[in-house]
Amino acid sequence: MLKKIDHIGIAVKNLERGIELYRDILGVEPEATIDFPPEKVKIAFFPLGESSVELLQPTHEESAIHKFLEKRGEGIHHICYRVDDLNKAIEILVARGLKPLDSKPRNGAHNTRVVFFHPKDTAGHLIELSEKA
Ligand code: ZN
Repeated sequence: MLKKIDHIGIAVKNLERGIELYRDILGVEPEATIDFPPEKVKIAFFPLGESSVELLQPTHEESAIHKFLEKRGEGIHHICYRVDDLNKAIEILVARGLKPLDSKPRNGAHNTRVVFFHPKDTAGHLIELSEKA
């Protein structure tokens, strides 16, 4: 069901500084930074082989990333796994006891449909599943 790690989402207070870390120190070229109003974040993607690192900076206090930073500080926010059939994957995981955060998939960045599963059921890490449109 899970095809690969699609990306690892990292919450940062300052996207420019995050970009400096990945581009200038770790030597990974970012894709263009995008503004993603549905989640009230700015995102920089760093493709790395089959996967990417996604740096997320909140653009509003109501952003889930803002709340995460307040509570836990900067760091890994979620791990995203690619699936081929999101509806099927949700059905299977719900039957196995996981709880999605939303009743329906959301639109993700980069033409994807995504769903998140609550960290209290998943060993403390937020899991995102993503299907390419
Ligand atoms: Zn993500």
